[in-house]
Amino acid sequence: MSAEASKRYRLAHPERWREIRRRWRERNRESERAKAKVWFDAHPERHKELRRRHYRKHAEEIRRKERDHLASDPVYRSRKQASTRRWAAANLARRRALETKREAKRRGNGGSHTAIEWVTLCWASGWCCSYCGIRLTTDTVTRDHRTALSRGGTDSIENIALACRPCNNRKYTKTETEFRAAVQS
Ligand SMILES: [Zn+2]
Repeated sequence: MSAEASKRYRLAHPERWREIRRRWRERNRESERAKAKVWFDAHPERHKELRRRHYRKHAEEIRRKERDHLASDPVYRSRKQASTRRWAAANLARRRALETKREAKRRGNGGSHTAIEWVTLCWASGWCCSYCGIRLTTDTVTRDHRTALSRGGTDSIENIALACRPCNNRKYTKTETEFRAAVQS
C-alpha cells in the first residue's frame, strides 16, 4: 500500500484504523515503554512536569485507585506502610539535625560540623551510644553535645558524641563527666 493509499484508507475507516493502532500498541507495549523510558531519562525536568500535570488532572481518580489498591491488597499495603515509616524516620533524623544546628546558632557558642563529619563519627564510634553502649541506627542515633550548648559547649565535632535518645534526654544539660558520675552512682 502506498503512503497515499494508506492515508485514504485511514480517512475512510477512522474506527477501523484506531482499532489497528490500538492492537499494534498492545503488541508493542514493551518496546513502546522502553522507548518512552529512554525519552523520560533524557528529559527528567520535562518528565517531572508531565507527571505533575497528569497528577493534577487525574488527582481524584488516582487517589481513589490508590485507596482501593490499599484496601484490597495486603502485601501492597504493608509495603506502602513500611516505606512511609522509613520516609518519616529519615525526615525525623533530618529535622532533629536541623533543630540542633539552629539551637547551636542561636546560642552563638561557635563551631559547626558537617554531615560528613557526623557520619564519620558514627562509624568511628561503631554506631554505639557513648553512654550506655546500645547499638544505634540512622533512625535512633542522636547528637549529644558533650558540654551542653546551654553551658557554652560548641557545635564542633569535637564536642559531639553519639547518644541514644533515652541517654540524651537523661543527660540533658549535664556535662559528660557529670552524667557519667550520675549513671555510675
Ligand atoms: Zn544510651
